[in-house]
Amino acid sequence: MAEDCLFCKIIAGEIPSNKVYEDDSVYAFHDINPAAPVHILVIPKKHLSAVNAASEEDQALLGHLLLKANDIAAEQGLADEGFRYVINTGDKGGQTVYHLHLHILGSRQMTWPPG
Ligand code: 5GP
Ligand code: ZN
Repeated sequence: MAEDCLFCKIIAGEIPSNKVYEDDSVYAFHDINPAAPVHILVIPKKHLSAVNAASEEDQALLGHLLLKANDIAAEQGLADEGFRYVINTGDKGGQTVYHLHLHILGSRQMTWPPG
């Protein structure tokens, strides 16, 4: 747990969240300000400030996170119609919370390129 990290506090239950899924290494919850009808954040319980802060030792964790996101997307009914994953990284990547999170966005048509 990192001091003053919003998502570490959510994992610890110090800040409430609308949980979708939890296991030993990942936690998923609804985004507080949804950008799509389905907008879920999937995060590792281990504090990693961004996806590019991961190292070799995090390989299995990242794979697990992505596979669990696939399960969640399917449970949300998105598998057939499609959906989008987003990992904003750093300032110009639009990252505002510095604890790695995968956005699952779905149930509306996505556009490209993103803003
Ligand atoms: P980023 O811009 O870093 O990729 O995404 C951060 C996301 O976290 C945003 O979509 C924002 O709405 C969400 N968020 C920020 N604070 C909270 C919070 O306290 N609870 C929840 N559930 N989501 C949050
Ligand atoms: Zn954290």
